Formats: sequence, C-alpha cells, structure tokens
Amino acid sequence: MRVLICGGGVIGTATAYYLAALGAEPVIIERAGIANAASGKSGGFLALDWCDGTPLGPLARRSFVLHKALAETLPSDYGYRTLDTLSVTATDDSESAYAHPALLNWLADAAIVRGRLGTTETTAQVHPASFTKALADAAVEQGGRTQVGEVTGIQLSAKGSAAKGVVVGNELLEGDAVVIAMGPWSILACNWLPLPPVYGLKGHSIVLRPAQPVSPHALFVDVQDHGGNQHSPEVFPRPDGSVYICGLSGTEDLPVDPNRVATDAASTDRLLAITKTFAPQLAQAEVIAAQACYRPVTTDGLPLLGRVEGLENVYVSTGHSCWGILNAPASGEAMAQLVTAGTAETVDLRPFDPRRLGPSPRSAAAE
Ligand SMILES: Cc1cc2nc3c(=O)[nH]c(=O)nc-3n(C[C@H](O)[C@H](O)[C@H](O)COP(=O)(O)OP(=O)(O)OC[C@H]3O[C@@H](n4cnc5c(N)ncnc54)[C@H](O)[C@@H]3O)c2cc1C
Repeated sequence: MRVLICGGGVIGTATAYYLAALGAEPVIIERAGIANAASGKSGGFLALDWCDGTPLGPLARRSFVLHKALAETLPSDYGYRTLDTLSVTATDDSESAYAHPALLNWLADAAIVRGRLGTTETTAQVHPASFTKALADAAVEQGGRTQVGEVTGIQLSAKGSAAKGVVVGNELLEGDAVVIAMGPWSILACNWLPLPPVYGLKGHSIVLRPAQPVSPHALFVDVQDHGGNQHSPEVFPRPDGSVYICGLSGTEDLPVDPNRVATDAASTDRLLAITKTFAPQLAQAEVIAAQACYRPVTTDGLPLLGRVEGLENVYVSTGHSCWGILNAPASGEAMAQLVTAGTAETVDLRPFDPRRLGPSPRSAAAE
C-alpha cells in the first residue's frame, strides 16, 4: 500500500515511520526540506501530564511513552533526555521561593525558582530537527522514501469518492492513500478538500552557545522587561551544550512558500534583552541560530486527525499547535493504523475528527 504523505514535518515523518513499521510504503513529499519549518525550530520539550484534563491527555501520555521507546529504538542520537522543569520568576520578592544551587551559575540573583513543574519522570526533551530527520530516515530504512516537491493539488477518481494521487508540481503522483500533514500550510488543501481551516501562529526563537555549560533544567520564566512588559520565555538547555529560548510571537501572515519564513534582527535583539533580565551571562553567549516558525492551530485548539469527509482514502493530521513534537508519535501511530486498517487502536481519535468543525469557506468555494 503506497501512502502519499504531504509534508515532511514531525507529523508527516512520524506517520511515515509507523506506516512503514506496518508494512506500508510511505512516500513523504516535502517542498522545502525535512524539518525546515516548526518541526526543526521548536523547543522540543515533552511533558507526560500537562495535557491531562483536556481531550489531548491520552494522546500526550501515549506519546510520552512512545518517545522513550523511540529513543531506545531509533539508531541516531537526537538528544532525547529526561530533565527537571522549573518555574522561575525574575523578581525581588523572595517569599515562597527557593534558591536552586544548580542554577546559581547561570541565572541572575533576582531570578528565583517558584516551583517544580516536572521531574525526570514527567518531562523530557528532544532536538526536534534531529528527531524529525531520524523518523524520516527510519521510514526510508523500512521501505519508504522521501521526494522533494510542492504538492499543488489532489486528483480524484472518476466517481469523485477517492483520490488517485496528488499533483506534485504539474505531475500526478499516484498512491493508494493520501495524508495531508503540511502543518499550517494544510490551509492550502482547503482549496482541494472539504477541510476545516488551519492557521499559522508565528514564534521567534534563538539558540545560544554559552561558554560554560548550564545545568539540565527546562525553565518556564516570568519576567518584566525594562519597559514594564510581561514576558514568558521558555528555556531549554540541550545535551549538545546549546540553549534554546523562545517566547516572542509575531503577527506576520504565513507565506505560501515555507522557504520565505523570515526572522528579523529586532526580534532577536528583543529575545536577548528578555534573556538578560533573568540570565545576563547567557545573553552574552554566541547566537548560533535566530529563527522563526509557525505553529499550526485550528479554531478549537485541537488537532485534526482522521479521514476527510466523503473520500475513502484521504486523511489529515495537523493542527498540533504548541504540542506537535510531543504528540507526533501517538498521532503517527494512530494515523498509520487508521490508514492501513480503517480504525485506530491505540488512541481514541474521535475528539480530533475533522468533521467536528465545518469546512473552510475556501473549501465551499472549491466545490
Ligand atoms: C516557537 C515554537 C516552539 C515550539 N515548541 C514546542 C515544544 O517545545 N514541544 C512541542 O511539542 N511542540 C512545540 N512547538 C509546536 C511544534 O513545533 C509544531 O506543532 C509541530 O512542529 C508541527 O509539525 P507539523 O509537521 O504539523 O508542521 P511543520 O513542521 O510546519 O511541517 C509542515 C511541512 O509541510 C511542508 N509543506 C508546506 N507546503 C507544502 C507543499 N505545498 N507541498 C509539500 N510540502 C509542503 C513544509 O515545508 C513543512 O516542512 C513549538 C512551536 C513553535 C512555533
């Protein structure tokens, strides 16, 4: 069974990996390079129970377990490790706070630990680009393949009830099933399919290389900058010695071409200025990446995971918002089961059924 997966982010590559494990032949069609977008530029932070109490809870718990299993199975080292996660506030008010000895050499005196948000049992991290590529490589190793190209449409059978394949550039690529996994660019598929809209929310991030190693603690920080504005940067030291920091959003519209996602010097400077308020030495470190990306969001904040209405072999997996790296394994596993066997065994996909949201007005116009 050849399955055409549109998009080589973490959701597409995880789906490909689990499809290949079930004996299918996944073909990942990617316009700008595996992990070029949010899947290569995100924090890569993972949490077992932070989605509990929401429909995402079981997906996240299953994913957290699968992440551990994948780190033991996949041949490449992509920086998976468990770590403690702390809440930090930069303030003079030290009431109910405690000093954390491991953080003293890299945080400002005014930065105090408010509490523990996660332990090595409940929080972990990966390097997201390396993880996404490791999944793609493992899918190829098991009989799948990747193809560079821009998906520009879908070709339906004469009866219109199934897809014959997808249009890549101007050519038809035939397959037995199609999975739309283009992150925020899945909105383009609304021109071809009755799909709810997916939007892109821009976020800036920087990766620093400090001269001195910092302790393995993920930090969720609350700070006020000198202008009195409140910020909530997220700080993820990585096993390779670098430190990833995000927490600054942007308002620019998603460009149609993923290669055109731009960052700007002003956003980098602002992130460094925010960093300086709670970790002045870190803010002096070499900037090894200054980047921006778009996370895919739906109108109700939940992903779209399931079959597309009215088409027997077309599926969608997108809209994972701020938890796409975490939730990729269980999403990919369940989608692979759905595509090959008609039902997902490991997670209940009903809360994520794309039919819960009406099709985009674009889809109506395309019909
Ligand atoms: C700043 C930031 C920090 C984040 N931190 C975390 C975190 O710590 N933990 C976590 O779990 N999640 C995090 N996320 C969320 C996570 O990054 C996303 O949910 C996830 O990467 C989405 O993956 P995706 O595969 O759906 O989309 P993408 O990564 O956007 O991949 C979609 C792919 O489709 C391709 N494409 C687009 N158009 C076409 C076309 N026409 N034809 C073919 N291919 C096409 C693109 O080139 C791209 O490679 C963060 C997001 C942001 C923005």
